[in-house]
Amino acid sequence: MIHEVLPVGMLACNCSIFGDEHTREAIVIDPGDDVGRILELVAKHGLRVKAIVITHAHIDHIGGAAELKRATGAPVYMNGNDASLEATLAIQATWLGMPEPERVEIDATLAEGGTLRLGETEFQVLHTPGHTQGSISLWIPAEKKVVAGDTLFLGSIGRTDLPGGDARQILRSIHEKLLPLPEETVVIPGHGANTTIGQEKLFNYFLRG
Ligand SMILES: [Zn+2]
Repeated sequence: MIHEVLPVGMLACNCSIFGDEHTREAIVIDPGDDVGRILELVAKHGLRVKAIVITHAHIDHIGGAAELKRATGAPVYMNGNDASLEATLAIQATWLGMPEPERVEIDATLAEGGTLRLGETEFQVLHTPGHTQGSISLWIPAEKKVVAGDTLFLGSIGRTDLPGGDARQILRSIHEKLLPLPEETVVIPGHGANTTIGQEKLFNYFLRG
């Protein structure tokens, strides 16, 4: 499995590009910005984007989705509980002093238990609300990797003080959906460095008690 992590945009959102070596198909997760650079990496590996997945509807994760969809023709997937948040992209842009991004039409929703396939590899959808109501994580058992959006970070957890955030709910999501994954699972967070489930169980101050 090809896997590139590209920090995109002003807030350095980790955009993941997964590519299957045999089918040459790719799934792009969280194309927040810098679509030209994403497309360069896709082309470098000789891949064809078959799905665009949004972990949650914050501007730094979804801002480039319309442009990437136009360039690739790939459908865009997101959890339905973030539809109302997606409608506030213009307001989110104002908070950050950014130009308003183009709205993207969501083609299909991803809910708990849903799956996407890339070649032989299954991507399983975990609904992990708390940072936003529609936050999802993608668990890839064959790769022992989980793409966690802004739910779990190296030594930290997602903020819950923005509209749609819920501090108790994010802890429940992490304890019930992420920490039960194998300890060697690599966590690719929405921002910053990778970690593992085992490391966060031991050292993450926010998950104590
Ligand atoms: Zn976020």
